[in-house]
Amino acid sequence: MKSWVKEIPKAVLHDHLDGGLRVSTLIELAKQQGYEDLPSKDEVELKAWIQPKPNQTLALNLEAWAHTIGVMQDKDSLYRVTMEALEDLYNDGVVYAELRFAPLVHCQKDLSPSDVVNAVVNGVKDGMDKYGIVSGVILCGMRQENNSESVVELCIKHDDVIGFDLAGPEIGFSVLNHKNACKKALENDIAMTLHADWEVPEGINEVILQSKAKRIGHGSQIINDVEIKNNNLSFKNKAAKYVFQNKIPLEICPTSNIQCGAFDSIPNHSFGELYKLGFNVTINTDNRLMSDVSMSEEVSNVVDAFDLNQEDIKLITKNTIEAGFVDLKLRKKLL
Ligand SMILES: [Zn+2]
Repeated sequence: MKSWVKEIPKAVLHDHLDGGLRVSTLIELAKQQGYEDLPSKDEVELKAWIQPKPNQTLALNLEAWAHTIGVMQDKDSLYRVTMEALEDLYNDGVVYAELRFAPLVHCQKDLSPSDVVNAVVNGVKDGMDKYGIVSGVILCGMRQENNSESVVELCIKHDDVIGFDLAGPEIGFSVLNHKNACKKALENDIAMTLHADWEVPEGINEVILQSKAKRIGHGSQIINDVEIKNNNLSFKNKAAKYVFQNKIPLEICPTSNIQCGAFDSIPNHSFGELYKLGFNVTINTDNRLMSDVSMSEEVSNVVDAFDLNQEDIKLITKNTIEAGFVDLKLRKKLL
Protein backbone atom coordinates (compact mmCIF):
# COMPACT_ATOMS: atom_id res chain seq x y z
CA MET A 1 0.00 0.00 0.00
CA LYS A 2 1.35 3.46 -0.89
CA SER A 3 2.20 5.41 2.28
CA TRP A 4 -0.26 8.27 1.63
CA VAL A 5 -3.33 6.03 1.23
CA LYS A 6 -3.87 5.42 4.94
CA GLU A 7 -3.59 9.15 5.82
CA ILE A 8 -5.52 10.73 2.97
CA PRO A 9 -9.10 11.60 4.02
CA LYS A 10 -11.52 9.03 2.65
CA ALA A 11 -15.30 8.86 2.32
CA VAL A 12 -17.59 5.84 2.06
CA LEU A 13 -21.24 5.74 0.98
CA HIS A 14 -21.87 2.01 0.90
CA ASP A 15 -21.01 0.05 4.04
CA HIS A 16 -23.39 -2.53 5.54
CA LEU A 17 -23.47 -2.44 9.33
CA ASP A 18 -24.16 -6.18 9.62
CA GLY A 19 -21.36 -6.94 7.14
CA GLY A 20 -18.73 -4.92 8.97
CA LEU A 21 -18.53 -6.24 12.53
CA ARG A 22 -15.21 -6.98 14.16
CA VAL A 23 -14.86 -10.74 14.34
CA SER A 24 -13.89 -10.38 18.02
CA THR A 25 -17.17 -8.56 18.67
CA LEU A 26 -19.15 -11.27 16.91
CA ILE A 27 -17.59 -13.86 19.23
CA GLU A 28 -18.03 -11.72 22.37
CA LEU A 29 -21.66 -10.89 21.64
CA ALA A 30 -22.42 -14.56 20.95
CA LYS A 31 -20.83 -15.50 24.28
CA GLN A 32 -22.72 -12.81 26.22
CA GLN A 33 -26.03 -13.83 24.67
CA GLY A 34 -25.61 -17.60 24.86
CA TYR A 35 -25.77 -17.70 21.05
CA GLU A 36 -24.49 -21.18 20.27
CA ASP A 37 -24.64 -21.28 16.47
CA LEU A 38 -21.22 -19.83 15.53
CA PRO A 39 -19.11 -22.42 13.70
CA SER A 40 -16.05 -21.43 15.78
CA LYS A 41 -15.23 -19.33 18.84
CA ASP A 42 -11.68 -18.77 17.62
CA GLU A 43 -11.08 -15.44 15.83
CA VAL A 44 -8.74 -16.80 13.17
CA GLU A 45 -10.90 -19.82 12.43
CA LEU A 46 -14.15 -17.86 12.39
CA LYS A 47 -12.70 -15.16 10.14
CA ALA A 48 -11.47 -17.81 7.71
CA TRP A 49 -14.91 -19.44 7.74
CA ILE A 50 -16.71 -16.14 7.05
CA GLN A 51 -14.60 -15.03 4.12
CA PRO A 52 -15.64 -16.10 0.62
CA LYS A 53 -13.99 -19.28 -0.62
CA PRO A 54 -12.94 -19.79 -4.23
CA ASN A 55 -15.88 -22.15 -4.73
CA GLN A 56 -18.45 -20.06 -2.87
CA THR A 57 -19.27 -16.49 -3.78
CA LEU A 58 -19.96 -13.77 -1.25
CA ALA A 59 -23.59 -13.63 -2.26
CA LEU A 60 -24.04 -17.28 -1.36
CA ASN A 61 -22.43 -17.00 2.03
CA LEU A 62 -25.74 -16.11 3.64
CA GLU A 63 -24.99 -18.12 6.75
CA ALA A 64 -22.39 -15.55 7.77
CA TRP A 65 -25.07 -12.86 7.73
CA ALA A 66 -27.39 -15.08 9.74
CA HIS A 67 -24.77 -15.01 12.51
CA THR A 68 -23.96 -11.30 12.45
CA ILE A 69 -27.67 -10.45 12.38
CA GLY A 70 -28.27 -13.19 14.96
CA VAL A 71 -26.19 -11.37 17.60
CA MET A 72 -27.56 -7.90 16.73
CA GLN A 73 -31.01 -8.33 18.25
CA ASP A 74 -30.79 -6.01 21.27
CA LYS A 75 -30.13 -2.29 21.74
CA ASP A 76 -26.69 -2.64 23.32
CA SER A 77 -25.36 -4.87 20.55
CA LEU A 78 -26.67 -2.61 17.79
CA TYR A 79 -25.22 0.44 19.53
CA ARG A 80 -21.85 -1.24 20.09
CA VAL A 81 -21.54 -2.46 16.50
CA THR A 82 -22.37 1.04 15.22
CA MET A 83 -19.86 2.78 17.51
CA GLU A 84 -17.17 0.28 16.61
CA ALA A 85 -17.85 0.70 12.90
CA LEU A 86 -17.26 4.44 13.22
CA GLU A 87 -14.18 3.90 15.39
CA ASP A 88 -12.68 1.49 12.84
CA LEU A 89 -13.49 3.78 9.92
CA TYR A 90 -12.06 6.81 11.76
CA ASN A 91 -8.84 4.90 12.57
CA ASP A 92 -8.61 4.07 8.87
CA GLY A 93 -8.67 7.74 7.82
CA VAL A 94 -12.36 7.89 6.88
CA VAL A 95 -13.87 11.34 7.47
CA TYR A 96 -17.34 10.70 6.01
CA ALA A 97 -19.24 7.43 6.39
CA GLU A 98 -22.76 6.36 5.55
CA LEU A 99 -23.77 3.09 7.22
CA ARG A 100 -26.74 1.05 6.08
CA PHE A 101 -28.74 -1.87 7.42
CA ALA A 102 -32.15 -3.53 7.18
CA PRO A 103 -33.94 -2.67 10.44
CA LEU A 104 -36.71 -5.28 10.22
CA VAL A 105 -34.29 -8.22 10.36
CA HIS A 106 -33.22 -7.07 13.84
CA CYS A 107 -36.69 -7.62 15.32
CA GLN A 108 -36.32 -11.36 15.93
CA LYS A 109 -36.37 -10.91 19.72
CA ASP A 110 -37.93 -8.06 21.72
CA LEU A 111 -37.09 -4.93 19.76
CA SER A 112 -39.62 -2.93 17.78
CA PRO A 113 -38.44 -1.50 14.43
CA SER A 114 -38.21 1.95 16.04
CA ASP A 115 -36.10 0.58 18.92
CA VAL A 116 -33.71 -0.86 16.35
CA VAL A 117 -33.42 2.42 14.45
CA ASN A 118 -32.97 4.42 17.67
CA ALA A 119 -30.15 2.16 18.88
CA VAL A 120 -28.22 2.64 15.63
CA VAL A 121 -28.98 6.36 15.36
CA ASN A 122 -27.73 6.83 18.94
CA GLY A 123 -24.55 4.97 18.01
CA VAL A 124 -24.08 7.23 14.99
CA LYS A 125 -24.60 10.39 17.06
CA ASP A 126 -22.21 9.31 19.81
CA GLY A 127 -19.69 8.02 17.26
CA MET A 128 -19.75 11.37 15.48
CA ASP A 129 -19.16 13.20 18.79
CA LYS A 130 -16.40 10.86 19.91
CA TYR A 131 -14.46 10.47 16.65
CA GLY A 132 -15.32 13.65 14.77
CA ILE A 133 -16.36 11.60 11.74
CA VAL A 134 -19.41 12.82 9.79
CA SER A 135 -21.89 9.98 9.47
CA GLY A 136 -25.48 8.98 8.86
CA VAL A 137 -27.60 5.88 8.52
CA ILE A 138 -29.58 4.53 5.55
CA LEU A 139 -32.38 2.00 6.09
CA CYS A 140 -32.64 -0.93 3.68
CA GLY A 141 -35.73 -2.75 2.55
CA MET A 142 -35.09 -6.16 1.03
CA ARG A 143 -36.02 -6.85 -2.59
CA GLN A 144 -37.21 -10.39 -1.79
CA GLU A 145 -39.56 -9.21 0.98
CA ASN A 146 -42.82 -7.29 0.75
CA ASN A 147 -42.34 -4.93 3.70
CA SER A 148 -40.34 -2.12 2.09
CA GLU A 149 -43.12 0.42 2.61
CA SER A 150 -42.82 0.02 6.36
CA VAL A 151 -39.08 0.67 6.05
CA VAL A 152 -39.83 3.94 4.24
CA GLU A 153 -42.27 4.79 7.04
CA LEU A 154 -39.41 4.31 9.51
CA CYS A 155 -37.26 6.68 7.44
CA ILE A 156 -40.07 9.26 7.62
CA LYS A 157 -40.62 8.75 11.35
CA HIS A 158 -36.94 9.01 12.31
CA ASP A 159 -35.62 12.42 11.28
CA ASP A 160 -32.03 11.34 11.78
CA VAL A 161 -32.21 8.63 9.11
CA ILE A 162 -30.64 9.97 5.90
CA GLY A 163 -31.98 7.66 3.22
CA PHE A 164 -33.66 4.53 1.90
CA ASP A 165 -32.17 1.60 -0.01
CA LEU A 166 -33.34 -1.69 -1.47
CA ALA A 167 -30.84 -4.51 -0.99
CA GLY A 168 -30.96 -8.28 -1.42
CA PRO A 169 -31.08 -10.53 -4.49
CA GLU A 170 -31.72 -8.66 -7.76
CA ILE A 171 -32.41 -11.24 -10.44
CA GLY A 172 -36.09 -12.12 -10.25
CA PHE A 173 -36.68 -9.46 -7.58
CA SER A 174 -37.24 -6.20 -9.43
CA VAL A 175 -37.29 -2.88 -7.59
CA LEU A 176 -40.55 -2.27 -9.46
CA ASN A 177 -42.13 -4.70 -6.97
CA HIS A 178 -41.51 -1.87 -4.49
CA LYS A 179 -43.16 0.96 -6.43
CA ASN A 180 -45.25 2.08 -3.47
CA ALA A 181 -42.23 2.27 -1.19
CA CYS A 182 -40.19 4.27 -3.71
CA LYS A 183 -43.13 6.57 -4.42
CA LYS A 184 -43.62 7.20 -0.71
CA ALA A 185 -39.90 7.92 -0.28
CA LEU A 186 -39.98 10.44 -3.13
CA GLU A 187 -43.13 12.15 -1.86
CA ASN A 188 -41.57 12.53 1.57
CA ASP A 189 -38.17 13.74 0.38
CA ILE A 190 -36.36 10.62 1.56
CA ALA A 191 -33.15 10.32 -0.46
CA MET A 192 -32.88 6.99 -2.25
CA THR A 193 -29.94 4.88 -3.29
CA LEU A 194 -30.90 1.50 -4.69
CA HIS A 195 -28.71 -1.56 -5.26
CA ALA A 196 -28.37 -2.41 -8.97
CA ASP A 197 -25.52 -4.43 -10.30
CA TRP A 198 -26.82 -7.45 -12.11
CA GLU A 199 -29.89 -6.81 -14.26
CA VAL A 200 -28.21 -4.45 -16.64
CA PRO A 201 -29.50 -2.44 -18.39
CA GLU A 202 -32.95 -3.13 -16.92
CA GLY A 203 -31.73 -2.73 -13.35
CA ILE A 204 -30.24 0.71 -13.87
CA ASN A 205 -33.25 1.85 -15.86
CA GLU A 206 -35.60 0.68 -13.10
CA VAL A 207 -33.54 2.21 -10.33
CA ILE A 208 -32.72 5.58 -11.89
CA LEU A 209 -35.35 6.43 -14.51
CA GLN A 210 -38.36 4.61 -13.08
CA SER A 211 -37.75 4.74 -9.32
CA LYS A 212 -35.79 8.05 -9.32
CA ALA A 213 -32.98 7.01 -7.00
CA LYS A 214 -30.28 9.65 -6.51
CA ARG A 215 -27.46 7.10 -6.47
CA ILE A 216 -26.82 3.53 -7.60
CA GLY A 217 -25.61 0.87 -5.20
CA HIS A 218 -22.77 -0.70 -7.23
CA GLY A 219 -23.63 0.04 -10.88
CA SER A 220 -20.30 -1.33 -12.11
CA GLN A 221 -21.97 -3.23 -14.99
CA ILE A 222 -22.96 0.05 -16.63
CA ILE A 223 -19.71 -0.30 -18.56
CA ASN A 224 -21.61 -2.77 -20.79
CA ASP A 225 -24.06 -0.01 -21.74
CA VAL A 226 -21.48 2.31 -23.27
CA GLU A 227 -19.45 2.18 -26.45
CA ILE A 228 -16.31 4.04 -27.41
CA LYS A 229 -15.76 4.50 -31.12
CA ASN A 230 -13.09 6.81 -32.53
CA ASN A 231 -12.69 8.33 -29.09
CA ASN A 232 -16.39 9.15 -28.94
CA LEU A 233 -18.53 7.90 -26.10
CA SER A 234 -22.00 6.66 -27.01
CA PHE A 235 -24.71 4.99 -24.99
CA LYS A 236 -26.69 1.84 -25.71
CA ASN A 237 -29.70 3.01 -23.70
CA LYS A 238 -31.31 6.05 -22.10
CA ALA A 239 -30.48 5.00 -18.55
CA ALA A 240 -26.72 4.89 -19.11
CA LYS A 241 -26.84 8.25 -20.89
CA TYR A 242 -28.83 9.76 -18.04
CA VAL A 243 -26.41 8.39 -15.42
CA PHE A 244 -23.44 9.84 -17.29
CA GLN A 245 -24.96 13.21 -18.14
CA ASN A 246 -26.41 13.77 -14.68
CA LYS A 247 -23.32 12.53 -12.87
CA ILE A 248 -25.36 10.01 -10.89
CA PRO A 249 -22.98 8.66 -8.24
CA LEU A 250 -22.04 4.98 -8.60
CA GLU A 251 -21.26 3.31 -5.27
CA ILE A 252 -18.60 0.95 -6.59
CA CYS A 253 -17.42 -1.83 -4.27
CA PRO A 254 -14.51 -3.42 -6.17
CA THR A 255 -13.53 -6.25 -3.80
CA SER A 256 -17.12 -7.26 -3.15
CA ASN A 257 -17.85 -7.27 -6.90
CA ILE A 258 -14.96 -9.64 -7.50
CA GLN A 259 -16.06 -11.93 -4.68
CA CYS A 260 -19.53 -12.03 -6.21
CA GLY A 261 -18.04 -13.04 -9.54
CA ALA A 262 -18.78 -9.83 -11.46
CA PHE A 263 -15.11 -9.38 -12.43
CA ASP A 264 -12.12 -11.67 -12.12
CA SER A 265 -9.65 -9.14 -10.71
CA ILE A 266 -9.36 -5.47 -9.71
CA PRO A 267 -7.34 -4.56 -12.85
CA ASN A 268 -10.20 -6.06 -14.91
CA HIS A 269 -12.88 -4.22 -12.88
CA SER A 270 -14.76 -1.47 -14.72
CA PHE A 271 -13.83 1.16 -12.09
CA GLY A 272 -10.76 2.46 -13.92
CA GLU A 273 -12.51 2.81 -17.27
CA LEU A 274 -15.62 4.39 -15.75
CA TYR A 275 -13.49 6.94 -13.90
CA LYS A 276 -11.50 7.83 -17.00
CA LEU A 277 -14.69 8.16 -19.05
CA GLY A 278 -16.04 10.68 -16.52
CA PHE A 279 -18.64 8.65 -14.66
CA ASN A 280 -19.14 9.79 -11.05
CA VAL A 281 -17.51 6.80 -9.35
CA THR A 282 -17.05 6.41 -5.61
CA ILE A 283 -15.02 3.76 -3.75
CA ASN A 284 -16.76 1.61 -1.15
CA THR A 285 -16.21 -1.38 1.12
CA ASP A 286 -19.71 -2.95 1.04
CA ASN A 287 -18.94 -5.48 3.81
CA ARG A 288 -15.70 -4.97 5.72
CA LEU A 289 -15.95 -8.25 7.63
CA MET A 290 -17.32 -10.52 4.92
CA SER A 291 -14.89 -9.23 2.30
CA ASP A 292 -12.00 -8.71 4.74
CA VAL A 293 -11.36 -5.25 3.35
CA SER A 294 -10.87 -1.75 4.79
CA MET A 295 -11.37 1.60 3.03
CA SER A 296 -7.59 2.09 2.83
CA GLU A 297 -7.21 -1.33 1.24
CA GLU A 298 -10.03 -0.64 -1.21
CA VAL A 299 -8.54 2.74 -2.15
CA SER A 300 -5.12 1.14 -2.44
CA ASN A 301 -6.54 -1.55 -4.73
CA VAL A 302 -7.82 0.98 -7.27
CA VAL A 303 -4.80 3.28 -6.89
CA ASP A 304 -2.46 0.42 -7.80
CA ALA A 305 -4.65 -1.16 -10.49
CA PHE A 306 -5.43 2.06 -12.36
CA ASP A 307 -2.36 4.13 -11.55
CA LEU A 308 -4.28 6.81 -9.65
CA ASN A 309 -2.53 9.51 -7.61
CA GLN A 310 -3.44 11.62 -4.58
CA GLU A 311 -5.21 14.21 -6.73
CA ASP A 312 -7.46 11.50 -8.19
CA ILE A 313 -8.38 10.25 -4.71
CA LYS A 314 -8.96 13.81 -3.45
CA LEU A 315 -11.31 14.41 -6.38
CA ILE A 316 -13.17 11.11 -5.86
CA THR A 317 -13.49 11.84 -2.12
CA LYS A 318 -14.86 15.33 -2.82
CA ASN A 319 -17.37 13.89 -5.29
CA THR A 320 -18.31 11.23 -2.74
CA ILE A 321 -19.01 13.76 0.01
CA GLU A 322 -20.97 15.92 -2.44
CA ALA A 323 -23.08 12.83 -3.24
CA GLY A 324 -23.72 12.20 0.46
CA PHE A 325 -27.15 12.21 2.06
CA VAL A 326 -26.08 13.70 5.41
CA ASP A 327 -27.22 17.30 6.01
CA LEU A 328 -25.21 19.65 3.78
CA LYS A 329 -24.22 21.81 6.76
CA LEU A 330 -22.25 18.90 8.20
CA ARG A 331 -20.81 17.83 4.85
CA LYS A 332 -19.71 21.38 4.01
CA LYS A 333 -17.09 21.25 6.75
CA LEU A 334 -15.39 18.51 4.77
CA LEU A 335 -15.62 20.04 1.30
ZN1 LIG B 1 -24.45 -3.52 -0.66
